[in-house]
Amino acid sequence: MIVATAGHVDHGKTTLVRALTGIDTDRLAEEQRRGMTIDLGFAYADLGDGDPADSGIGVAGFGDSPPAPAQPLGFVDVPGHERFVRNMLAGVVAIDLALLVVAADDGPMPQTREHLAILGLLGVPQLVVALTKADRVDGDRLQAARREVAALLADTPQATAYRQAPVFALAAPTGQGLPALRQHLAQAAQRLAQRPVTGHFRLAVDRSFTRAGAGRVVTGAVLSGCVQVGDAVLVAPLGTPARVRSLQAQHRSADRPVAGQRCALNRAGPGLKRGDPVRGDWVVAAAAPPPSDRLDVQLSVLTGANRPLRPDSQLQLHLGAAAVTARVSSLEGSALVAGAPAWARLLLDRPVLAVHGDPFILRDAAANRTVAGGRVVDPFGPARGRSRPARRLQLAALALPEPAAALAALLDEAPDGVDLRGFAQTRNLTDTELDALCRPPASQATTGPSAAVQAPAGQALAVQVLAGAHGPLGLSARHGQAWRERVLAVVDRWHAEQPDSLGPDEPALRTRLGADGRMPAHAVLRATLQALLQDGRLVRDGLCHRRAGHRATLAETDQAWLARVAAQLAPAGLRPPIVGELATALGLDVPALLAFLLRMAGQGRLVRVAPNRFYLPDTVAELLAQARALAAEAGDGGYDAAGYRDRTGIGRNLTVQVLEFLDRAGLTRFDGARHWPVD
Ligand code: GDP
Ligand code: MG
Repeated sequence: MIVATAGHVDHGKTTLVRALTGIDTDRLAEEQRRGMTIDLGFAYADLGDGDPADSGIGVAGFGDSPPAPAQPLGFVDVPGHERFVRNMLAGVVAIDLALLVVAADDGPMPQTREHLAILGLLGVPQLVVALTKADRVDGDRLQAARREVAALLADTPQATAYRQAPVFALAAPTGQGLPALRQHLAQAAQRLAQRPVTGHFRLAVDRSFTRAGAGRVVTGAVLSGCVQVGDAVLVAPLGTPARVRSLQAQHRSADRPVAGQRCALNRAGPGLKRGDPVRGDWVVAAAAPPPSDRLDVQLSVLTGANRPLRPDSQLQLHLGAAAVTARVSSLEGSALVAGAPAWARLLLDRPVLAVHGDPFILRDAAANRTVAGGRVVDPFGPARGRSRPARRLQLAALALPEPAAALAALLDEAPDGVDLRGFAQTRNLTDTELDALCRPPASQATTGPSAAVQAPAGQALAVQVLAGAHGPLGLSARHGQAWRERVLAVVDRWHAEQPDSLGPDEPALRTRLGADGRMPAHAVLRATLQALLQDGRLVRDGLCHRRAGHRATLAETDQAWLARVAAQLAPAGLRPPIVGELATALGLDVPALLAFLLRMAGQGRLVRVAPNRFYLPDTVAELLAQARALAAEAGDGGYDAAGYRDRTGIGRNLTVQVLEFLDRAGLTRFDGARHWPVD
């Protein structure tokens, strides 16, 4: 468990941490000289063993001691002075409990309120009030201070549960109240369920120093995942690679620090000088999501902020242990005012490593005021169309706390499918976690590409995982069904309008669907066709698709001419004669032949691969088979024009035309360098 202090300067935070841990966290010379905390202080103590020796102020035993926690508690002591709120913010990342320190003589002061508001905005789950300096006041004043604290807490948002926070009256010189507080903290640590170790490892660096013999050490709170010696890590946002050499968790050497612990980490690797992490950096698993300078967030403006945030306000964003300048704009087309949480976009001066759910604070640096805070919803929002209604629906889905529910809602809004890798990055899911989300439950058949997302309500939503052009694409059962119906409608219409055509090929289908309102992604159309071919509702004829019962009619004369053309084309194999040569061979004039060939191509009986060269559908299948065979032999599964030319012997120019045709027909994909067969 990680605990941080909070509260006004001089109210006794550092004294309290010393009393609890025996450690003076004011370690800087300037702090010692001024008697004031400037930067974060760190201390660790095992409060569960009932040993009063480490309390620093000689407290007597305190009755029933709770069982010892598995690991020491980590304490972060923060500065209370208004000039150092920035440092305070770096210390309260990922804490489990805040100790709000209020001196009984002063009562709540400005930074008491500001820190309390910050804790609420960050969503720190537990609050305990330490009413210090009880020895300095009489009974009446102590009661008055209690009432002031109660009034302060009564003003906190219901959702934080801070209104029920326990209050401990303490006196440092006598140790009064301390045993009860220690016991409360020890019990809280016991109760704290082990945080699930999910996601890629992320550590928010709050300190970096050199230790004799160990070299450079960084410390911070583990925000997600876990880390082990030997792991490959990156220092974000710069991206410097390194390897983990040694580790500590909660100030003890550890094999595997996990989320919810403070961790010290010693790195090895090249380029470390340049990439020396500093406060505000992250050390993350090599596979963690990339940094981003554009965050879509849900934020709440503080009531005390007085005026609404102007559009494009420049504020200081505190996220993790970092502080960067952010331009804040509403995604709701209205001013950001105190009250209900609002959607906003933050454009940052410098990228941060943020994922869904990361809490943040926005401060007005010039006025030295905290004005808002909230949670990151999507760190990889689209550059354009951010205020479109469809994007709003997407954001509402992304905002759902459970990944399964969020994915189910996203799938529901996405007829074009959901980029699953992008979703995993937004939520900081590992490949295994993403797979588990998309895996069919044990009860379901595991054949075919269908899987299911377990929605929290208990109903399983089928999701089909398709091989998209940029990684796996998830398609909901409902949208899959809708696409199949749309495709069948297009084919039916095609048959009605052109009874002599064999049916539309894939590009024609896409164009028709596009004209009907929505052009499917290649992967979506391919999967739809596959399903319809599999269940027998469609039949493939060369490149064409027809209804199972449809028989294209062809006039007898056309049939005879087609047979004569085929007799010329078939023996020529992969390099059939061009239109002029064909006309000579058949004793026809070119315009008449071309008109006939085009009509046959329109019906799917011939394929126009190049402007002056027509192929039999079977030969096109052979062109594709050659491409597939070539790709299968290559290490990377792709091929280039020279390779295809050498294999087929059809010459350079025709190779270029054939490869362009295959790409156009959606049978292969070109990435600018190589061609890739499409399944
Ligand atoms: P911080 O700024 O909140 O960290 O406050 P410090 O811990 O530095 O304490 C400020 C001053 O208050 C110091 O002189 C402490 O000795 C004193 N102090 C803190 N707690 C108590 C207490 O319970 N009783 C008395 N009498 N003095 C206290
Ligand atoms: Mg202090």
